[in-house]
Amino acid sequence: MDIDLDDEQLRQVLADAELPALLPALAQLTGDAELIAEDLRPRGDAESVYAPPQGGMTTSQQTRARDAAWRALRTLRDGGALSAEPPPLEAMLAFVTGEGADDYASLLQSEMGLGRGEADTAWTLEELAPDRKMRVAIIGAGASGLAAAHRLAQAGIPFVVFERNADVGGVWFENTYPGARLDTSNFNYSYSFDQNPDWQHQFSQQAEVLAYFADVTDRFDLRRHIRFRTEVISLEYNDAAGTWSLRSCEDEGEFSDETFTAVISAVGQLNQPNLPDVDGIERFAGPWFHTARWRHDVDLRGLRVGVVGTGASSFQVVPAIAEEVGQLAVFQRNPPWMVPTPQYHDELRPGMRWLLDHVPTYHLWWRIYLVWNNVEGRMPYAQVDPSWDGLQSVSAANDRVRQVLTEAVRTQFDERPDLQDAVVPSYPPYGKRMVRDNGVWANALKQPHVSLVTDRISRVTEEGIVTEDGTLHELDVIIYGTGFQASRFLQPITVRGQDGLDLHEHWKDDPRAHVGVTIPRFPNLFMLYGPNTNLVVHGSVIMFVECAVDYVMGCLRLLLETSSAAIDIRQDAFDSYQQRVDEANAMMAWGAADVDSWYKNTRGRVTQNWPLPVLEYWKLTRGPVPEEYDLFPM
Ligand code: NAP
Repeated sequence: MDIDLDDEQLRQVLADAELPALLPALAQLTGDAELIAEDLRPRGDAESVYAPPQGGMTTSQQTRARDAAWRALRTLRDGGALSAEPPPLEAMLAFVTGEGADDYASLLQSEMGLGRGEADTAWTLEELAPDRKMRVAIIGAGASGLAAAHRLAQAGIPFVVFERNADVGGVWFENTYPGARLDTSNFNYSYSFDQNPDWQHQFSQQAEVLAYFADVTDRFDLRRHIRFRTEVISLEYNDAAGTWSLRSCEDEGEFSDETFTAVISAVGQLNQPNLPDVDGIERFAGPWFHTARWRHDVDLRGLRVGVVGTGASSFQVVPAIAEEVGQLAVFQRNPPWMVPTPQYHDELRPGMRWLLDHVPTYHLWWRIYLVWNNVEGRMPYAQVDPSWDGLQSVSAANDRVRQVLTEAVRTQFDERPDLQDAVVPSYPPYGKRMVRDNGVWANALKQPHVSLVTDRISRVTEEGIVTEDGTLHELDVIIYGTGFQASRFLQPITVRGQDGLDLHEHWKDDPRAHVGVTIPRFPNLFMLYGPNTNLVVHGSVIMFVECAVDYVMGCLRLLLETSSAAIDIRQDAFDSYQQRVDEANAMMAWGAADVDSWYKNTRGRVTQNWPLPVLEYWKLTRGPVPEEYDLFPM
């Protein structure tokens, strides 16, 4: 190992280390099981509203851990130990998770890039059915489309990716608004099959995330499979052949029609911007646009700007533009819950960065540590206790979160008591996804040229926005951070399944899919990041997408192994799964009757979110249960 630091410099580096992940990484390199001794193990803090620093290690544990890590780094520097036998993987994982996490072993190993559990990735089309003609269409080259493309390429299955944009990245390509960045750590918002030790931030800005997806595309040679600026217009299932006819349109020009064995929708949930249904929106005389369609040609400097909405996007936009605009009016319907994250915008500390550069498996263990802390950890805080009759919370634990977060936000507005009530949500914590707060939001709202408008919008005029109290807020530019039409999955593509059944009419604004992937009477159509696979409090979207890809690959494998033309989920299996998901969603804070959000459709059903343990999704997606499917012969 190339370590060119002296003893004292090594000590300095370790001051910045995240120890719960560094110890197993060093144990793996040195073979020294003392580094993962029981008395150094982070105990976490189940009572803590947010994950405690250093996994809740005591000061004494941290001192001993740094000493042990220092000795290990010196040994490695001086040429020792690299070839020593590492402790068993299970022992290193148990150091991070504690005892009793055996059920999670295969999930965690998959997150380290060590296989996909029971979802075998080693098979190929050539091996299983060399004479079979199979060709798959993927719609979208965002995070899920690229994951699917990679796995199809691995299996040697021919495929085409249709991408309406000029490049890969999906939401990270489209959302270029100022301040856009991740709100989950890069170290787990990245593929298990292509982990990046080089992140400069814990929470990267949009350009860095987009560059990652572009790099993955090139590293796995996926670009040659992608048709850019090509929009899928319609999908039609051919009952007799068990195939799909796909109509696409390149650059808004010629239509082209092709046939595919299967179609994988990787269009995501957040691809159709939502503009509010407000009278006069088109009448406004100045520029107006959605955050996901940012107008970089509009120079905001010195102008009177209105931002509508205070969700995740606006929460990032407002602090990013506050300094440059002349006046800023923020139109808020409900404030967001904010998780204090003081280091949110910071680059990784130099010592941490050095360790990631020099300790080869550190980034993997850091990922596992983050995954573990996120896997189910916060879920109990979002679960409804039916006997709880507290106000604006759904259980005693949820109420404690409310109290802690309320205090955290109110103190930021100590010198502005006029804003203190307005910035505390009235809905329960975890009713919607929380945003990460490092103080820049409060700093922006407290500036004299910024106003927080809590009166409802009644209409838009040529001059600006009129609120229900009759005030005209005169504006030069209006920015809508009003979210996406999330439950309109696959819109505006026309999708016709068996007997010409129209998917959108069939769903009637109530999208559902088995395991988020398959829909009865739409054989060989597979969804990624489909209905009820969005995450609010636990897990990671990329992890779920990879799980769904495993499931799709399992379905394709079943087709090959049984020489079947098509695979269709049985209604009874579909129904019992739906019932389980709906019942569980009703018991989560986001399912509570008085919480309104993009997670629910117009009927109030939670169409977006996964309400069960992550482990359950992992298990469900190890592959299709053959008895739950009808297989149609060739
Ligand atoms: P959003 O969370 O749905 O927020 C939309 C905002 O617009 C809400 O404040 C909503 O108010 C408001 N709004 C909607 N219609 C309105 C109307 N007619 N009048 C006034 N206000 C209105 O949308 P988003 O901020 O674009 O975020 C969507 C999702 O994208 C997030 O939940 C997250 O999953 C993802 N995202 C992630 C990141 C990240 O990783 N950093 C960044 C941005 C977005 P109500 O709350 O009252 O409905």
